[in-house]
Amino acid sequence: MFVVMAPDAGEAEVLGVKSAILGEGLTPFDHVTNGRTVIAVIGEMGDGRKPALAERLGALAKVDRVTPINRPFKLTSREFHPENTVIRVLGAVIGDGSLTMMAGPCSVESRDQLFETADAVKDAGATILRGGAFKPRTSPYSFQGLGVEALRYLAEARDRTGLPVITEVMEPNQVDIVAEYADILQIGTRNMQNYSLLTAVGRVARPVMLKRGYGATVEEWLMAAEYIVSSGNPNVILCERGIRTFETYTRNTMDLAAVPLVHQLSHLPVIVDPSHATGKRWLVAPLAIGGVAVGADGVMVEVHPNPDAALSDAEQQLTLDQFRAMMTEVVAVHDHVRAMYAVPIDGSLAATAGVAAAGPAKH
Ligand code: PEP
Ligand code: MN
Repeated sequence: MFVVMAPDAGEAEVLGVKSAILGEGLTPFDHVTNGRTVIAVIGEMGDGRKPALAERLGALAKVDRVTPINRPFKLTSREFHPENTVIRVLGAVIGDGSLTMMAGPCSVESRDQLFETADAVKDAGATILRGGAFKPRTSPYSFQGLGVEALRYLAEARDRTGLPVITEVMEPNQVDIVAEYADILQIGTRNMQNYSLLTAVGRVARPVMLKRGYGATVEEWLMAAEYIVSSGNPNVILCERGIRTFETYTRNTMDLAAVPLVHQLSHLPVIVDPSHATGKRWLVAPLAIGGVAVGADGVMVEVHPNPDAALSDAEQQLTLDQFRAMMTEVVAVHDHVRAMYAVPIDGSLAATAGVAAAGPAKH
């Protein structure tokens, strides 16, 4: 449930509500929206306890109302946080209506390969540099990444280009070392429900990009984001990277509907990854354009100076020229649609009807 404070509630009244929540063995999270403090009551409270708890909290000083929320995700919901989350990292801004372009190799293979890619993507307009250091590979015999050596190259590439760098962290015990070198931590599709990892990245002061599990529903994805946010890290970026369906021509199926749907349900920025979604180089640009057309806050793509010789995901990495050409198209589409998505979605507590309509489909 959410406790909505009166507009003239002061710090003392907000503290009064928060300590009452803590006294119940629950955790308060507060957010100020439109000049009012909204306090989310988080924790297992059981249906039987809710009415009495709501009544008790509703009777406290300067509480305007107590609103039940039936969704399992709370802190990531639009109801709690109606305005978009905007994440700033070095010079890059994500979620403010601008176009975020993350580009770089699937795996960092050498300093030269990374620097050549970094210089080219920066020159073409990329805003964030990607590159895998620790690689989650389906086969234990495939290239597993250069590890810490790659983290060092990424940090050097950041210093060289000024672009913030994003790389995947696969295990809780890698979080500190990856956070030491990288600006954004990536959680891969295979780890979307690795709850100890989610909790670990929830405790560091780095934005996290959470890829959708290839077999996860939108609700499971948002619940995974909820783990990170409720552990203390509000800077979460969601990434739609395709889900597994019966289709075999593409590596995955890119769920474009998830982009406007998540924007309706949540305040977190959404990025699309057409490289892993399609697995085919020639399908990347059309799907990047599609993602931006449905309102994605940005795109992540894999780019390599010589994709055919890449040590991982050779078929889906763009050449430097292809990336340059794609950028022109994606920027044009973004310029065309940005006004369409500039109007904030009304997810305020007073207008939950539209959001409620976006529940899971019935078969
Ligand atoms: C990646 O982006 O490097 C990656 C491994 O992607 P995913 O987790 O989506 O497969
Ligand atoms: Mn890859």
